[in-house]
Amino acid sequence: MSEQAQKFVYDFTEGNKDLKDLLGGKGANLAEMTNLGLPVPPGFTITTEACRVYLESGSEPAALRDEVSAHLEALERRMGKKLGQQDDPLLVSVRSGAKFSMPGMMDTVLNIGLTDASVSGLAHQAGDERFAWDSYRRLVQMFGKTVLGVDGDLFEEAMAEAKRARGAETDLDLDADDLRQLVEDFKAIVLKEAGREFPQEPREQMDLAVRAVFDSWNGERARLYRRQERIPNDLGTAVNICSMVFGNLGPDSGTGVAFTRDPASGHQGVYGDYLSNAQGEDVVAGIRNTIPLAELERLDGASYAELLRIMEVLERHYLDLCDIEFTIERGKLWMLQTRVGKRTAAAAFCIATQLVDEGLIDEAEALQRVNGSQLAQLMFPRFDPAALQERGKGGPSGGVAAPAERIAWGIAASPGAAVGKAVFDSYTAVKWSRSGEKVILIRRETNPDDLNGMIAAEGILTSRGGKTSHAAVVARGMGKTCVCGAEELEVDTKRRRMTAPGGVVIEEGDTVSIDGSTGRVYTGEVPVVPSPVVEYFEGRMHAGAEDADELVRAVHRIMAYADRVRRLRVRANADNAEDAARARRFGAQGIGLCRTEHMFLGERRELVEKLILADTEEEREQALAVLLPLQEDDFVELFEAMDGLPVTVRLLDPPLHEFLPDITELSVRVALAEARKDANENDLRLLQAVHKLHEQNPMLGLRGVRLGLVIPGLFTMQVRAIARAVARRLRANGDPRAEIMIPLVGTVQELELVREEAEQVIDEVRGDTGVDLSLALGTMIELPRAALTAGQIAEAAEFFSFGTNDLTQTVWGFSRDDVEASFFTAYLEKGIFGVSPFETIDRDGVGALVRQAVREGRGTRPDLKLGVCGEHGGDPESVHFFHEVGLDYVSCSPFRIPVARLEAGRAAAEAVGSDSR
Ligand code: ADP
Ligand code: MG
Ligand code: MG
Repeated sequence: MSEQAQKFVYDFTEGNKDLKDLLGGKGANLAEMTNLGLPVPPGFTITTEACRVYLESGSEPAALRDEVSAHLEALERRMGKKLGQQDDPLLVSVRSGAKFSMPGMMDTVLNIGLTDASVSGLAHQAGDERFAWDSYRRLVQMFGKTVLGVDGDLFEEAMAEAKRARGAETDLDLDADDLRQLVEDFKAIVLKEAGREFPQEPREQMDLAVRAVFDSWNGERARLYRRQERIPNDLGTAVNICSMVFGNLGPDSGTGVAFTRDPASGHQGVYGDYLSNAQGEDVVAGIRNTIPLAELERLDGASYAELLRIMEVLERHYLDLCDIEFTIERGKLWMLQTRVGKRTAAAAFCIATQLVDEGLIDEAEALQRVNGSQLAQLMFPRFDPAALQERGKGGPSGGVAAPAERIAWGIAASPGAAVGKAVFDSYTAVKWSRSGEKVILIRRETNPDDLNGMIAAEGILTSRGGKTSHAAVVARGMGKTCVCGAEELEVDTKRRRMTAPGGVVIEEGDTVSIDGSTGRVYTGEVPVVPSPVVEYFEGRMHAGAEDADELVRAVHRIMAYADRVRRLRVRANADNAEDAARARRFGAQGIGLCRTEHMFLGERRELVEKLILADTEEEREQALAVLLPLQEDDFVELFEAMDGLPVTVRLLDPPLHEFLPDITELSVRVALAEARKDANENDLRLLQAVHKLHEQNPMLGLRGVRLGLVIPGLFTMQVRAIARAVARRLRANGDPRAEIMIPLVGTVQELELVREEAEQVIDEVRGDTGVDLSLALGTMIELPRAALTAGQIAEAAEFFSFGTNDLTQTVWGFSRDDVEASFFTAYLEKGIFGVSPFETIDRDGVGALVRQAVREGRGTRPDLKLGVCGEHGGDPESVHFFHEVGLDYVSCSPFRIPVARLEAGRAAAEAVGSDSR
């Protein structure tokens, strides 16, 4: 990079919205609005490149100073006054603006250029003494805080003191003299705290502010945020220098924020807030009561009309909901910022379809405007909005079971709505839930010792910690509702109570309701209603019905777009007819994983025990003979529920000890019996077996295909049950499409041995039943060795299904059950990964093996069918990866099927949609 050739400063007229890398989001959009002919105060942007040079070398690029001077002079010529000019000062704001907006970065400094000398010039020009001193005190305050690092509270206190002395209610009641005095006080604070005078040289003010913006890129909170959001550390921030316009010039001036549509519902209209005679962040800082934007029409009809016109221009230009910051200076409207606005999940769906209807975007683009995690959010049960609304209007209403009141607002860490009795320790959570109570576990923060309590609870509430705290991570992993970091709550675990603002005390046993989708916490019981979106997927609500709400109609349409374009098929992980039927309603195109071990639980456990304890060939065969017809019936039901669609049945996978009693419990039982001298023969044998089967690392022990190879007759029994079930369905004129899947294969030899046996059994069933059946046979790829030798394995497999849970465990050497609760939160906090590799596929490691196995498997067998049945199959990001590597299908739990369908559609539409943007 040669510095001479580089341009570090762009006038607002030189940029555009596609230059976010270089100009940051704010700068790029200010330029875009300028070029649209909208009223933006003139200014220029210092590029992220300049920031990068500064961060790398410790000083601004040599050329920067002159370039800034040139742009500043041009601005001064244009405005007809010089920065800080004594009789008529040009003032500017210095505003940070990275590519991604980032909490923890430097705030904006307004009114740069004001000095002891120019303040009276400003007063004279504006004909308003008070205004000039108000602007100056704001400058000293903001500059002191953000550039010189003075504790902002000190200014706030001085301000409060001034108001007290005056008997003033708001800042507006302070007059010019009060404000002049306040400036003196503020400057004294600066001198004392920062050890230097407030700078009286306008250009120095500006340069220091620019440097402070650069430095804020490496502020602690900004760094942490980037690690968690996986924003690269070396992007740097841009700095915008923007000539000031004044909303604090009296009652015909003001400042506001607006959305072009309701970010909560998506409805078109005028949404926003306005504050007259105010500047900058006043409107969001809550210093005075704002008015709804619609009332601006009454105050200043012309500016209001102009604002609506601009909102329309912006929507048509950005083809999306925009949010806006604006200022009115003596009846003249100025645009200070815009960007494509954030919105709720429901609004995202509604807006996407509205924009299609308005002809602004096409269906492929509509798919890019929503995502799977938004859809997932919409599928959680929620608190009855009617009940909450009523309460908002004052007091509990008739429909509410018990009075409930919002007592805190924390971080929405894991969605859902949960109601239960407050408990403050894990032990009580477990005890109460065993006796049938629903509980909410409340802790200051959780740690691995709280795990049992978290499992037992309906929901988890903490007063400390953010989105990657232990509580948040573990709750999300369990799919459990969680609100964390509700800092207004004083949790006292010793006294088993918490205190909310206003002195509300919640004792152990009191009912609380927590909303993990919004972070809100209520006392009492808020009624929970099922999500209308789930009612729709379940077929209990029709999108065409008159009372179907706009959201359901929007979801219906978006799902139709997704299904039309997606290439990935979506199957379900389901083990019984009931789940299979639900999966079908949710749009499953087959079963990708039927875990047969679930058919061995409950009463059948004893039969498995017999099988394990069998000493002789005869005993074993007897045990298998009892299991066979039971399995067969299970399969018949399943194939019937999935008639016409593929069903992949995995042969027994888990280690056998999982079917035996717990080793400690059994040892105690046997020891006690022996002491009483009446040892039970069966228990003794069981204990022996348990000891024999005990493994240090069962996850890496006798399981999967290994079981099939060392326990004679086990896999053949299962294959026979599947084959016979297929024969029965065929005879009943059904259309069973069973596929047999062998788990945990590491080498093709294992698969060949199982295959030989299986084929023999299938032949036998063919002979016995006279039905000409055929069954596909394939394997899971869930060990690194299998992935590495996929070319060989494909010789013996008609399909692969990637078991990405085990593959992640074995590639990372993580035992999932252990690591998620112990050190994963530390890893997330340190930014080692932004999200657990069990949640989203690790593209670089595990993903690389998947890619290679796909290539080599298809190399051997071009028509090899490829799927994934790990939890990643329903994870939005991972679905995109599986689309990219060319799998045929993903399989996930029934509830996640709509999410997978949507994301598969989005992945396919991405290429198409990019043209229309
Ligand atoms: P943030 O990124 O925190 O929104 P901004 O740079 O947008 O910070 O500045 C915050 C607010 O300061 C703006 O919304 C606007 O009200 C005010 N502001 C910034 N620059 C100017 C300016 N040149 N003239 C008047 N007000 C400004
Ligand atoms: Mg802003
Ligand atoms: Mg597995």
